Amino acid sequence: FNISIPNNEPVLAYAPGSPERESLQQALQEAKAEVRELPAFINGERVLEGEKVSVHPPHERNHTLGHFYRGTDEHVHRAIDAALAAKPAWEALPWQQRAAVFLRAADLLAGPFRARMNAATMLGQSKNAYQSEIDAVAELCDFFRFNVYFLQEIYREQPLHSPDGTWNRLEYRALEGFVLAITPFNFTSIAANLPAAPALCGNTVVWKPAETQIYSAVVIMELFEAAGLPKGVINLIYTDGPQVGDIVFEHRDFAGLHFTGSTKVFQQLWKEIGNNIGNYRSYPRIVGETGGKDFVVAHPSARAEEVAVALLRGAFEFQGQKCSAASRAYLPASLWPDIKDRLLQDLDTVKMGGVEDFGNFVNAVIDERAFDRIAGYIDGARKDEHVEIIAGGDYDKSEGYFIPPTVLLTTDPRSTTMEEEIFGPVLTIYVYEDDKWEETLKLVDTTSPYALTGAVFATERGVIESASRSLRNAAGNFYINDKPTGAVVGQQPFGGARASGTNDKAGSALNLHRWISPRLIKENF
Ligand code: GLU
Repeated sequence: FNISIPNNEPVLAYAPGSPERESLQQALQEAKAEVRELPAFINGERVLEGEKVSVHPPHERNHTLGHFYRGTDEHVHRAIDAALAAKPAWEALPWQQRAAVFLRAADLLAGPFRARMNAATMLGQSKNAYQSEIDAVAELCDFFRFNVYFLQEIYREQPLHSPDGTWNRLEYRALEGFVLAITPFNFTSIAANLPAAPALCGNTVVWKPAETQIYSAVVIMELFEAAGLPKGVINLIYTDGPQVGDIVFEHRDFAGLHFTGSTKVFQQLWKEIGNNIGNYRSYPRIVGETGGKDFVVAHPSARAEEVAVALLRGAFEFQGQKCSAASRAYLPASLWPDIKDRLLQDLDTVKMGGVEDFGNFVNAVIDERAFDRIAGYIDGARKDEHVEIIAGGDYDKSEGYFIPPTVLLTTDPRSTTMEEEIFGPVLTIYVYEDDKWEETLKLVDTTSPYALTGAVFATERGVIESASRSLRNAAGNFYINDKPTGAVVGQQPFGGARASGTNDKAGSALNLHRWISPRLIKENF
């Protein structure tokens, strides 16, 4: 068993008439023809108990995809018990046995599960075929395969000196207890990786997904099962978040939290863990990726056409529902007219609608709460004397939660939408005078509490170098002449510090290190 560094899973093109397009269209039709019962998975058993909740495509709110059952406290207790019971056998397996499950999951996902996983992600989370393919297939295959590769490299590390007569060695144990994964709706890949990465390392997991991602979460569990994951290793439950937290964080065997979601929730969970700190067997590992207010800043030496494309793709792909989405831009007055023309022309060609028409670039935002929040920001901007709406600005939830790409131009670099995370298709632009470059970099660094991603556009080498230095702590993923989104596993490990998270780069060795607890063994012989 010796894995060489994996290749990234190729992203299929879904061209008209291609076999992948046909099988995806068929999977979409099948999914729409059925109302699925979406069970929780506790110790391998499918559980359909609790308050019945229906699931709709965000772009077609009158269609029902299925039902899940909001669970009770008892489900949380059962899931914890199942995880603890499955742990000894799972962690005792040679690690290659665990790796084989996830390598097999990647192959199944790239093969027979591909269309189903895409159909579930497209319908349940309103992603177009290309975005779903990148997320739910390519990135998820990459997470599974690269995690195995990185873990192999970690397990090999024995950077110890053993003087004559002694043998020093490191044994890489799993954490003692169980891990809680709390996962977001916006990426199926992240939702699956948060339980999968600790499990690969020998941990067992209670997984609480966002309610808006349950439709594809069930397919992930079916994939794990088909790949041979033993029962109880990952337990998927739908009990309300605060109830899960209350039970898990009071449990003596709680060993770690793997979280992606909002800064506010993460801080709340951290406090609860802190309040219980004396009750645990070990100090829990806390790993979280939270918000972002990601910037694009262009120098007068930048190429306008590249900036315009980065803004369009960085801000509006995935409806801007990415922690990494470009949401504030700082553009020089000399380039602004050119960038504006290009951006507005491109936006004119963009189509919005449901996911079954593969020509739609923009789909719906995830749910009514998100819609109302984003619409609230747009309304606030409309009333702000410093802000002009230069594209989009209208919205409609009669059929689905549709908000078109919206571009705001502000004369106040600290206006609300320059500072706060919106998590939707809204980009705010501030135009600075060309001779104010240094001041602009300071604004970029100090305007938001987040530090997830950011992009600088410039062609002068000295400028690139000094911008990179002055924005050293402004982004965990820093892009030069590229959009601030679209990190690829194995190429650009992803994460940020400040209010954006613990920066334990998903899909990298750094992340896996958090799920293992080394034992040093010294032997005299
Ligand atoms: N990894 C994704 C990217 O680089 C973003 C993930 C997220 O939104 O949390 O665009």
